Amino acid sequence: MADTDQNQRELDGLRTQQWIHNEWVESASGETFDTINPATGQLLARVASAGGQDVDRAVASAREAVVGEWGALDAHRRSHLILRLADLIEEHADELATLETHDNGKPFFESRKVDLPMVVDTFRYFGGMADKIHGETIPVSGPFLNYTRREPLGVVGCIVPWNFPLNLASWKVAPALACGNAVVLKPAEQTPLTALRLGELAAEAGFPPGALNVVPGFGDRAGSALVRHPDVAAISFTGSTETGRIVMREAAETLKEVSLELGGKSPNVVFADADLGSAIRGANSGIFYGKGEVCAAGSRILVERSIYDDFLEGLEGRARKMSVGNPMESGTRLGAIVSQTQLERVMGYIQVGRDEGARLLTGGERREVDGRGYYVEATVFADVEPEMTIAQEEIFGPVAAVIPFDDFDDAVARANQTIYGLAAGIWTRDVGKAHRMAEAIDAGVVWINSYNRYDPASPFGGTKASGFGRDLGFQSALDKYTRTKSVWVALD
Ligand code: NAD
Repeated sequence: MADTDQNQRELDGLRTQQWIHNEWVESASGETFDTINPATGQLLARVASAGGQDVDRAVASAREAVVGEWGALDAHRRSHLILRLADLIEEHADELATLETHDNGKPFFESRKVDLPMVVDTFRYFGGMADKIHGETIPVSGPFLNYTRREPLGVVGCIVPWNFPLNLASWKVAPALACGNAVVLKPAEQTPLTALRLGELAAEAGFPPGALNVVPGFGDRAGSALVRHPDVAAISFTGSTETGRIVMREAAETLKEVSLELGGKSPNVVFADADLGSAIRGANSGIFYGKGEVCAAGSRILVERSIYDDFLEGLEGRARKMSVGNPMESGTRLGAIVSQTQLERVMGYIQVGRDEGARLLTGGERREVDGRGYYVEATVFADVEPEMTIAQEEIFGPVAAVIPFDDFDDAVARANQTIYGLAAGIWTRDVGKAHRMAEAIDAGVVWINSYNRYDPASPFGGTKASGFGRDLGFQSALDKYTRTKSVWVALD
């Protein structure tokens, strides 16, 4: 674990302007915004606030890269640069994980042992992809040779939320670069720091100016300007369903390609024939990992009635052990909620859960550490009716809604009783039942006897109000970040 002096040194040297054309640049307006450490509620840094002019500048830089040095690089060289960036991220993993924890409030072990390794793996995976992209020759009628080319889209805008700031950025930036695009990355205003450092590390790795620009700022200014920009070919967005709708509407004006990874209210379904201990552990980490600020959080726990009481007893015991504390301390399991606003939102939902008559099994209170910070206890509501607000709306906090069910069909109906369709968990020893359930659930990702597994090679994304398009995965990256050109050659 990094010690306090080390942390301070890292923050002292921090640059917080925009990263454009491989240089630190003040915002055109000179405006900044504050990023707060949620563990203390205190100012962490003042960061340049990008507006329309800054986005114009970043997009122009990216455009220059596409038609210039970056676009001219051969695929092997592109691959080497991405792999070199992965190495640099790995070398700076302590520093980046510390920044992430200070900015987001998540436990340091999550940043360092889970997020950062995934970021490195993601850059490595897509570094490996860069020189394996090719078209096809297609047997067509007549004396013609027909072949396809997989070409980059041009400038891709990547907009990411605050819950996995660097990780979700890597899910977009790495494949977009691998496919030969230049990127303008807009991190969330709550957590801009690691994205800025990523830009700087990319330059150190040898990326030419403009290949990766980073514009910190607010969604309705920097984000919207990126979405509306005529020279941006595609927007890869992760965030809330509400914002996703705005992004899609605004992108329609310039007919951009859009992919949307949005919210969720994912079911974690526990059948009576499951290994109960594993299911309880999986349900607990499924909702409380990352403070529940996880798009795929298993926030609706559906439990077969015959094991309902035993399950609740086990989950309550585990939830009580989720120690709330300073995110930099190794014993901490629940860090700080990302912001005051989010804290109030989570506490509001807990109140609604009580008011609507759900049974509060454990948690439910706001906490402080050393008299400050935005913390919430691991909270479990039992006897939740599927129609209740806490079973329908995404809370994005450490709040579980446990709902009993009677049989397989009832489980399917309840699992799908949501506008969302991001992820789902299934716990059973019956292989046939597991696969039937995996088929019946409307979700982009299903985990059987497991939860929250991710790999750069496996596509991730949702359906219904959870959006469309996939992050990760070789084929999804090709579909998302390249376009196919068909070339006909007359042979006679
Ligand atoms: P948000 O939608 O408020 O913000 C996400 C990003 O969009 C931020 O960078 C924000 O500045 C930007 N933004 C806001 N308004 C914009 C606009 N008008 N135009 C362009 N950009 C705009 O979401 P949030 O509160 O930061 O993140 C939480 C949400 O993200 C949750 O709903 C969660 O489920 C979702 N999420 C989804 C996934 C997934 O892969 N499906 C992953 C993580 C988080």
